[in-house]
Amino acid sequence: MTLFQISEPGQTPAPHERRYAVGIDLGTTNSLVACVRRSAAETLPDESGRHLLPSVVRYLAKGEPVVGHEAMAVAHEDPLNTIASVKRLMGRGIEDVRRLGKSLPYEFIRGDSAMLRLRTAAGERSPVQISSEILKKLKARAVKSLDVEIADAVITVPAYFDDAQRQATKDAARLAGLNVLRLLNEPTAAAIAYGLDRNPQGVYAIYDLGGGTFDISLLRLNHGVFEVMATAGDSALGGDDMDHAIAGWIMQQASIADDSDHKQMRRLLRDARAAKEALTQDKRVPLNIVHGNGESWQGELSRDQLHTLIDPLIERTISPSRRALRDAGITPRDINGVVMVGGATRIPRVREKVSYFFGREPLADIDPDKVVAIGAALQADILIGNKRDEEMLLLDVIPLSLGLEIMGGMVEKIIPRNTTIPVAKSQDFTTYKDGQTALLIHVLQGERELVSDCRSLARFELRGIPPMTAGAARIRVSFQIDADGLLSVSAREQTTGVESSVVVKPSYGLTDAEIERMLRESTAHAGADDVTRKLREQQVDADRLIEAVRGALNVDGALLNASERAEIESSLTDLQAVRGGNDGARIKRAIKKLDAATQTFAQRRMDENIRKAMAGHRLEEFDVPRDKSPS
Ligand code: ADP
Ligand code: MG
Repeated sequence: MTLFQISEPGQTPAPHERRYAVGIDLGTTNSLVACVRRSAAETLPDESGRHLLPSVVRYLAKGEPVVGHEAMAVAHEDPLNTIASVKRLMGRGIEDVRRLGKSLPYEFIRGDSAMLRLRTAAGERSPVQISSEILKKLKARAVKSLDVEIADAVITVPAYFDDAQRQATKDAARLAGLNVLRLLNEPTAAAIAYGLDRNPQGVYAIYDLGGGTFDISLLRLNHGVFEVMATAGDSALGGDDMDHAIAGWIMQQASIADDSDHKQMRRLLRDARAAKEALTQDKRVPLNIVHGNGESWQGELSRDQLHTLIDPLIERTISPSRRALRDAGITPRDINGVVMVGGATRIPRVREKVSYFFGREPLADIDPDKVVAIGAALQADILIGNKRDEEMLLLDVIPLSLGLEIMGGMVEKIIPRNTTIPVAKSQDFTTYKDGQTALLIHVLQGERELVSDCRSLARFELRGIPPMTAGAARIRVSFQIDADGLLSVSAREQTTGVESSVVVKPSYGLTDAEIERMLRESTAHAGADDVTRKLREQQVDADRLIEAVRGALNVDGALLNASERAEIESSLTDLQAVRGGNDGARIKRAIKKLDAATQTFAQRRMDENIRKAMAGHRLEEFDVPRDKSPS
């Protein structure tokens, strides 16, 4: 891209040299595209002047799919072919989706990989393909508004998106003919939109309440570097839940008992949403509800009533907020600014509660629907090279720790969660057995101590390690996470340089709920994990000792008399018997006993080895200083 940079540093390129790159907020409910034009970032509207594109795709038996408002308008008539909230399915497997529950009305099928597909009138479609339709639509909109060909984009993703979800987003962009300059975390984009990156330093909370998700992120700006300190949230909480609460209340008021009429329910939800949005301006809204049988009910919803209905939902955003503060090790008083993101933060009650919790008025001058797309556009403009000397480094964070399986089924964490990315870390390991020539590297994600409680991301082998005694090989395993949050792992034997690596592209990733659960369990099980870890360590020690003693008996058994040998054998049998149990203390005692029983044997083996080594040599040959030589 620097090929196009023919102006002097510090000068904005002349208009004809200017290149365009767009910022895209690929949202669960709504998506937007924005671009820097005439030195300001703005979201681009469609022909009817609408900026938000509902993230809804409807497949037809023939022709191109319909995307956006038109698809949403008929969603209730053709639910199986009209896909909403596809973002929730990105990078997920069929098992993950089963766990998301029955709230998704689509027909899922398992593809040849773990990736799931949906059956539609146009055939089977993957979430990546469905997402790419939304991106195509936004790209076409940008091409039309800007009247230039657009290829490059910054696309935003939630900060907690894992590897598979990020990869899926990139794949969708590629399918849509877009080159991803960078995947940018949504909260970081919002902070950029407010120009917070121009402050010397500060700590900012980004509160994002959208249609179906809540995310809280804490960012720290230091020495011109943005860093995500912590993220938390609730993947099943948003404006949609408010709509459901309001619809439930309307049903009560209008005596509608039957909730099995899907069309009526969809209508009710639409009316509830309209009422909720109107109450952002007005103190009360009239309701006119048409029953399934054609009769109608007139009523009214007041702001006070709305508050009664939504307060418990707003309250549910507070505990993740607390957790993020705790993870980051700060209190609300340390925060220099709170940024409001997401359509639902327009609701005055939400702002009120958020101000109260953080003890300050939140920033809300930029339209909370558009703020993420605007930040993405600003970043795209820099990355494409229009503002050369404003290059900034943006750091994000990994949501769960990454590590390796080590002996005993335990996980050694290499990169702890909430580490900022890009990051590279290495750790040295060694072989466990004499003559071991291959090593299995098992990459895991999660907070718990045991492999079985973590998520397996990848396995690969390092082969061709020259046979050495256990513990002699030096194997350096390096983890690297790039600016998009994608992980690669490599292993290298230091003395020989044999190397092997893997780019982690799991077939599907973790669900948000799973991430939540794993985090919760890690705290809940901290004590138990500790005990288990100790036990596993004892077991590993036991195995190592058993292996060593057996080997020694094979080689040097002749150095023992019958009773000595019997004593060792019996301690060996004892240790083998308790090794598999779960009493760490017993294993430890048995290890001690075997260790003691083999003391003499070990001494004798050492003497014997020295004797063998010196056989045929004179003491002088061993370069021992005369005065210190053994007498
Ligand atoms: P997402 O990030 O999930 O794509 P958005 O940020 O676009 O979602 O937020 C969509 C939600 O915002 C919907 O629940 C919508 O009803 C709500 N919303 C939009 N405008 C308003 C408003 N004026 N008052 C209240 N809620 C609103
Ligand atoms: Mg959003």
